[in-house]
Amino acid sequence: MVELFNVLSPPDAYRVLESHLPVEVRTERVPIARALDRVLAEDLTAPADLPAFARSTMDGFAVRAADTYGASEGLPAYLSVVGEALMGVRPETRVGVGQAVRIATGGMLPEGADAVLMVEHTQEVDRQTIEVVRPVAPGENVLRVGEDVARGASVLPRGHALRPQDLGGLAALGFAEVAVARRLRVAIVSSGDELVPPDQVPGPGQIRDINTYTLAALVERAGHEPLALGIVPDDYDRLAAAARRALELGDVAILSAGSSVSTRDLTAQVIASLGQPGVLVHGVSLRPGKPTILAVARGKPVFGLPGNPVSCMVTFDLFVAPTLARLSGLRGRSPRQVVSARLAHNVASAPGREDYVQVRLEPRGAELWAVPVFGKSNLIYTLVRADGMIKVDLDKGGLSEGELVSVVLF
Ligand code: AMP
Ligand code: MG
Repeated sequence: MVELFNVLSPPDAYRVLESHLPVEVRTERVPIARALDRVLAEDLTAPADLPAFARSTMDGFAVRAADTYGASEGLPAYLSVVGEALMGVRPETRVGVGQAVRIATGGMLPEGADAVLMVEHTQEVDRQTIEVVRPVAPGENVLRVGEDVARGASVLPRGHALRPQDLGGLAALGFAEVAVARRLRVAIVSSGDELVPPDQVPGPGQIRDINTYTLAALVERAGHEPLALGIVPDDYDRLAAAARRALELGDVAILSAGSSVSTRDLTAQVIASLGQPGVLVHGVSLRPGKPTILAVARGKPVFGLPGNPVSCMVTFDLFVAPTLARLSGLRGRSPRQVVSARLAHNVASAPGREDYVQVRLEPRGAELWAVPVFGKSNLIYTLVRADGMIKVDLDKGGLSEGELVSVVLF
């Protein structure tokens, strides 16, 4: 029996794993309509100016700014309307001295014009004449060629997770398809003699499998493809067979439970049998989640996560989520949102260990308070009742009531 004495801090543990991960990102091309939340795998520069022609930003009249100088309510300028700039085509009419052309928002500025008068600042005298009561400056109410993006400018970097507005930006520049990181297949095996699927009534001493479902959902939320391989009993041969299958079918494998140190806990031995370099970390100074196993076998990351559903979720966030991000080349965006709140009760912690505490958020007046959801380990409903987690740092003995804390939202 091995003891988990030489445990690493969570950041050190992750660094050890990270140094063994493949660096190459596997990519595919997808139509932009399917690219939401995907990680861009190429640096994109604008192939052309946007807009490609000068456009009006207002409904009104395209004019020569100089013709409006000095115009006021008391001394209006008069311009003759010589045509209309229709949408989607080059305007046929040129704007000469003392002339104006009707134009709508987004319309192409006719030749000769250098500004647009808002319709609100004009009065129609008759169909052919307008009265101008305010001057415009050259360029006013006009989008210049390349004002949105100049040709050759970098628009989106590799590693960026595509948001709705990014897809719009790609469409505007004619990128109908982009290279993105391939979704990773994450194989999940739940182990334990006590587990039955959720549609079965557990017998005495049995419980329903929780982790398959939370893990699969976490994988999906992270933008990847879960592959649930089901429940395996605490039997070396059966667990080893399931783990080999997980490694074959998945780009990443997660084995839930059986990672604490006892004769019945087989996960570490099984993972060690999968291939080189094998188990890199067994035990992390973390609560909940101490008995976590981080491994790489045949170029693929393998995780042995603690069976306790709370630990399982915390360790997914700390180790699996950043690994998936790293393998996808994701840069700069933390997968979860963080809000700031005041702590509603003292939280105790042992120094030398990172603690994660589930909290509920409660608005009190103008402030947000984080109310710890205490409970013994193993309670899935502490997570169900919580909105997020707070971290007590390694070197801290706890957190005090009233302190400002960062809540990582679920
Ligand atoms: P283990 O990691 O095998 O020592 O399990 C730790 C605790 O988590 C035990 O109480 C298990 O019954 C429980 N557990 C293990 N796997 C699951 C699972 N898939 N769903 C819910 N609870 C589990
Ligand atoms: Mg077990």
